[in-house]
Amino acid sequence: MTKVDNCTTCGKNLVEDGNVRFPCPKCGEGIGRCQSCRVLANTYECTKCGFVGP
Ligand SMILES: [Zn+2]
Ligand SMILES: [Zn+2]
Repeated sequence: MTKVDNCTTCGKNLVEDGNVRFPCPKCGEGIGRCQSCRVLANTYECTKCGFVGP
């Protein structure tokens, strides 16, 4: 799993508390989500396989 430093959705740096990193359900690539994208329930798109999830 690649180290994730930025939110996959908005590109924001993952420096604050409440940010999450998790592997893509499909390919295991690292996905990052910042707190605001989680609160807004923005979708993310895997940079590797194109998987889109909530
Ligand atoms: Zn974000
Ligand atoms: Zn993927």
